[in-house]
Amino acid sequence: MKKMFIGGRWMAAQDERTIPVVAPESGETFDRISRGGAHEVDLAVKAARSALAGPWGRMTATERGRVLMKIGQAVLDHADELAQIEARDTGKPMTTARNDITVLARYFEFYGSAADKVHGEVIPFVGGHHVSLLREPLGVTAHIIPWNYPAQMVGRTVAPALAMGNAAVLKPAEDTSLSALRIAEIAAAAGLPDGALNVVTGLGEEVGAALAAHPGIDFVSFTGSNEVGTLVQQAAARRPVKCVLELGGKSPQIVFADADLDRAVPIIVRAIVQNAGQTCTAGSRLLVQQEVYDQVVGRIAEAFAKVRVGTPEMDLDCGPVMNPAQLARVKRYIDAARNSGIPVLAEGRIAEGVPAAGFYVKPTLFGPVPRDNALAREEVFGPVLAALPFTDEADAIALANSTEYGLLAAVWTENGARQQRVAKAVQAGQVFVNCYGAGGGVELPFGGTKRSGHGREKGLLALEELSTTKTLVQYHG
Ligand code: NAP
Ligand code: MG
Repeated sequence: MKKMFIGGRWMAAQDERTIPVVAPESGETFDRISRGGAHEVDLAVKAARSALAGPWGRMTATERGRVLMKIGQAVLDHADELAQIEARDTGKPMTTARNDITVLARYFEFYGSAADKVHGEVIPFVGGHHVSLLREPLGVTAHIIPWNYPAQMVGRTVAPALAMGNAAVLKPAEDTSLSALRIAEIAAAAGLPDGALNVVTGLGEEVGAALAAHPGIDFVSFTGSNEVGTLVQQAAARRPVKCVLELGGKSPQIVFADADLDRAVPIIVRAIVQNAGQTCTAGSRLLVQQEVYDQVVGRIAEAFAKVRVGTPEMDLDCGPVMNPAQLARVKRYIDAARNSGIPVLAEGRIAEGVPAAGFYVKPTLFGPVPRDNALAREEVFGPVLAALPFTDEADAIALANSTEYGLLAAVWTENGARQQRVAKAVQAGQVFVNCYGAGGGVELPFGGTKRSGHGREKGLLALEELSTTKTLVQYHG
């Protein structure tokens, strides 16, 4: 049984309640975590507040950066162990889990090395005054993260918060709390002072809701569904405190007739199959110019049919989905598309020998999908790709922008002017030209437009989100 990490100490829930930890590969319970509640959230916020008043709050930016760099190294030193934890908890292939841990370390290295490079400014003002703009921490930051990339998400949201001198309270997803708990322990051993990072496990509607509504927090970062993101923003608005939301997408791969298909095909397949499609940046819409539609979709189908699904140890293209609810959701979309007569162009295969009670689903390519169909507009969060034809550039842009989301987009064409025009016209927080960066890119500012959320994570912009300014005006005559 895993306890929570609060104020540098392990703590069980006040009422000793626990939640089972289930392995998606087999459906079996292999551990339990604590089911915290409002009481533990309160303790964690107080521990964070004390950290700000204690050794953590007194550290210089250089010292904070050094601690973060040490955490990055410690993560690398424990990479095998962390990858095992992550693969078992999420069901993802071992290679993917190992990559996730490398990215986790990169977040601590990137923000650790940036901590003392965020400078203030001097502002020219009326005579006799000196004006400086200071960058300061927000205070206690709350972080509510999902189950798709649990370890990476800790790095993505917590590392910049710590770099700027905040103290964090983290609520991992109830399905995947193990890596966050171990990372907090590793960070403490690497020198992170007590209370700088607190992990409270439990249910979203208990721990998550209590955290978002806690009067002692100064900021909340949320990644997950639109429904819960709206609740979190409402709770933040009541304080009111700033909130950054990352809420998913329906990202288009826009393939023009002149695209380099040898390059595009494997990347497009990977961008939807990766992590069993449970990636907010999954390239889930394949938009293809009419004149090459059959050819492109034919080649994608060929590659798609070779996709293999298996256990983490089998280490194939992808693993099971996260939980029974997610399995039912993905199957519901697949069944609805089949029942409405949309052709199945290809299916991946589930490897022989996977446990029967695991949460496996066949990756499926549908096309042509009608523009008003759910599969063309809604986030499935599973390995389901919807192909749609378009006529010309204007039609491609209109189609790309026709969902409520706006997270990522990719443009596949050899025409440089068209690359620029389309990239500027699509509504997305990131646009890739002849490549696709689902999930990666610690250095690259990331976030949504439209219903995909607001605020920016990753890159140096995250440091602005996780800090505030103070304008200091001094009269010297
Ligand atoms: P979710 O409910 O939005 O969960 C995200 C996080 O919010 C988890 O830590 C969750 O805790 C917490 N949470 C749940 N209810 C809360 C509440 N009332 N107040 C505060 N926090 C709360 O997402 P999900 O149920 O895991 O997945 C549902 C769908 O969301 C997926 O099918 C997918 O479409 C989408 N999704 C998107 C992303 C993304 O990266 N954009 C990631 C995951 C899921 P618990 O885990 O304990 O409930
Ligand atoms: Mg699990």
